[in-house]
Amino acid sequence: MAQESKAASRQADATEFDAVIVGAGFAGMYMLHRLRGLGLTARVFEAGDGVGGTWYWNRYPGARCDVESLEYQYGFSDEIQRDWTWTERYAAQPEILRYQNYVADKLDLRRDMQFSTRVTAAAYDERAGLWTVETDRGDRVQAKFCIMATGCLSAARVPDFDGLNEFEGAWYHTGDWPKEGVDFTGKRVIVIGTGSSGVQSIPLIAEQAAHLTVFQRTANFTLPAGNRPLPKDEIERSKKTLLQDRQHARTTAGGIICFEYSETPAAEMTPEERQRELESRWNMGGFAFLGAFADLMATHEANHHAAEYARARMREVIKDPAIVDLLLPNDHPVGVKRLCLDTHYLETFNQPHVELVDVRKAPIEKITKTGVVSGGKEYEADCIVFATGFDAMTGALTSIDIAGRNGVKLSDKWAAGPRTYLGLGSAGFPNLFFITGPGSPSVLSNMIVSIEQHVEWIADCIGRLTEGNIRSIEPKKDAEDVWVEHVNELAAGTLYPQANSWYMGANIPGKPRIFMPYAGGVGVYGEKLAEVAAADYEGFELGA
Ligand code: NAP
Repeated sequence: MAQESKAASRQADATEFDAVIVGAGFAGMYMLHRLRGLGLTARVFEAGDGVGGTWYWNRYPGARCDVESLEYQYGFSDEIQRDWTWTERYAAQPEILRYQNYVADKLDLRRDMQFSTRVTAAAYDERAGLWTVETDRGDRVQAKFCIMATGCLSAARVPDFDGLNEFEGAWYHTGDWPKEGVDFTGKRVIVIGTGSSGVQSIPLIAEQAAHLTVFQRTANFTLPAGNRPLPKDEIERSKKTLLQDRQHARTTAGGIICFEYSETPAAEMTPEERQRELESRWNMGGFAFLGAFADLMATHEANHHAAEYARARMREVIKDPAIVDLLLPNDHPVGVKRLCLDTHYLETFNQPHVELVDVRKAPIEKITKTGVVSGGKEYEADCIVFATGFDAMTGALTSIDIAGRNGVKLSDKWAAGPRTYLGLGSAGFPNLFFITGPGSPSVLSNMIVSIEQHVEWIADCIGRLTEGNIRSIEPKKDAEDVWVEHVNELAAGTLYPQANSWYMGANIPGKPRIFMPYAGGVGVYGEKLAEVAAADYEGFELGA
């Protein structure tokens, strides 16, 4: 016991590791586990005071995963899944965070994690072949490998509104929600933003607030979530098949198996067949709707059928004729902005104490001591909730001062948009890995499946480098250029680039407009990863 605690304190004081992992969400937790399995030392730095990542920070009312819980869990361990029982079709944030803590306990992960510590810089020392990583707590550690498990939607963004610091009430961002929760009872509340976080939180905030004003810039497609308690037999069945289901999920486009994509284009169906397909998928709840036609995300004609159907169903719920047209999305194809799953969202606007303001017609001018001014009118509030999203996919990476060979900064290299090979690494940054980085399926897929795919690839790679005594691995510039081009071409074959979405970086003023994730699907992408590894890391430079 005494020896164990000495070893633990030696580890706590250590400043040299085989790997540093940044972030203790699903990705960082599993990465640590795999590196330990290789007998390597690692330190995880995490800004929060516990594990969880996204699910640590996003504690806003109504926060809930919109991938089904039986699929949104680790698939690498039969024991972990056997001992854990989900309660609802879509797990709420507290349950997911409990699950992550359960896994951290089970795998004894915390002893290699340093919490409440934000990584501020990482610089590659070419001579030593080591990364030096610095934190806001004054740590300075060295490691051969630096692995960014920083998440795709973790850099919360409050728009630069004039006057926010003068506001005398309380304000919150959904992605940085106070741990102790917020009681809105009897308060006048403003919510800015109607993406997934707004759509989930607005109904619950409205239940408490005396008055709620929602500022909407873009009306979004909202589909019924269809959440429900999970029956025992469904849970038991899934426990028996999870590992093989996961193998199957890895071969699909989205990393999920709870629904399949139709193989028939819309034009090859009769109007009745299209209607039946859309209706059954709508009633299924969740993202199944997007699979109604093989070409739903590829042609305007097919997409239009689905969008019209969705608008008609949304219209049925909204009672107030004055706002019905405002709440119906009509400026982008369905699915090209991330769909929002609706649990009483549209109905919320039927309540007399809930008001909708169209920011397109009446832009937000400033924030005052007492509220928000838009279109020349002041809306008073005790609290403002920013459901305004994230600097997605690149923000968490470029906010760390990352310097590769010759001191080149990642943020400079990516000034015109992220450049990666396979979303795993970037030329000029040896032994730096991104888990679900830009250029990989990531946010277009079940994140857990994509995280596992990357963690396992990176762990195998690090294992092979270590065994072969190879100093470094880094993408070749030409392979990276070809990959970036390929990612762009795939996106151009879809309707995705047709909306101002965070996938395109369009929510951040000045951010280059580039479709960042890989749209070719998890299965195809996985085959590419396997080919590259089998060909001795084709497209990567190995340093002797
Ligand atoms: P988001 O989708 O980026 O939505 C942000 C909202 O704020 C949008 O309505 C946006 O309008 C609005 N907005 C931004 N800046 C504004 C400004 N200056 N003035 C007025 N309005 C402004 O962010 P999010 O809702 O946090 O969701 C981000 C992603 O996180 C989701 O798409 C999803 O992938 C993930 N997420 C998942 C879940 C889940 O699993 N259930 C829950 C929450 C989030 P525009 O649309 O016009 O830009």
